[in-house]
Amino acid sequence: MKIGLIDVDGHHFPNLALMKLANYHRQQGDTVEWINHLEQYNKVYQSKVFTFTPDVSTVVQAEEIVKGGTGYEMYGELFCDDTEPDYSIYPQYTHAYGFLTRGCVRHCPWCIVPKKEGSIRAYRDVETVLQGRRTAILMDNNVLASEHGLQQLEKIADLKCKVDFNQGLDSRLVTDEVAQLLSKIKWIRFIRFATDTLAAVESLLKAIEKLNRYGVKNYRIFVYLLVKDVADANERCKVLKKLGVNPFAQTYRDYDKNILPTREQKRFAWYVNQKAVFKATEWEDYR
Ligand code: SF4
Repeated sequence: MKIGLIDVDGHHFPNLALMKLANYHRQQGDTVEWINHLEQYNKVYQSKVFTFTPDVSTVVQAEEIVKGGTGYEMYGELFCDDTEPDYSIYPQYTHAYGFLTRGCVRHCPWCIVPKKEGSIRAYRDVETVLQGRRTAILMDNNVLASEHGLQQLEKIADLKCKVDFNQGLDSRLVTDEVAQLLSKIKWIRFIRFATDTLAAVESLLKAIEKLNRYGVKNYRIFVYLLVKDVADANERCKVLKKLGVNPFAQTYRDYDKNILPTREQKRFAWYVNQKAVFKATEWEDYR
């Protein structure tokens, strides 16, 4: 069979599902390639991660087109989920990509993860994800909420590989013991957390304090900042700025109601994410 792949919106990040599909079909003896819109395929896999990005508008010539991903509001598990990814379709990326756990114990109202993946469960061993690579981008949603996740963190520290939990860690679960464990891990760049409301700041500050005790410097800490109420986000930002940690603003989107960010939310996010502007001015002056 001749298989075509379309990564609809992944221009800065490899698509794990497509990498697994590529490997699965190659193991079946099929040919797999990025789609050429002038050619005919037996089957085309079209994967979309975000609901708000535009869909493919050019004609796809295929006997069968299989769409998948959160961007199409399709949350089912991939039929070949156990297949290891074929990194050769994204030669520009050198890290390993994957998950150690799936799901989350929490039910934040703006988040799609509990609906998509359910509660937390063990998923993979870090060595399976690494496939011999020395660095890994791990996309777990709440690794600290899982016993398996904590065991994997111990293993990561022992292996001395470098990792990035790019979805952030849950600051409420950073005990003294967890902070010590996190301090032993080699991070690609940052230890990431999130603060989505003012109420979440307290637990973040406690987590930072514990990490500091084990030698983690604030410039190594990165905090996702959900921007819904701009005044609330600005208050959180001021706290982070004072500490010298790195905030990254993300505007709120309601996936169900398709509510897009307001102009003020977008301006605030721009202000925070332009580091030179953020460091030089306060939001009140910038606005
Ligand atoms: S803790 Fe994170 S992953 Fe879990 S429900 Fe809340 S936002 Fe989603």
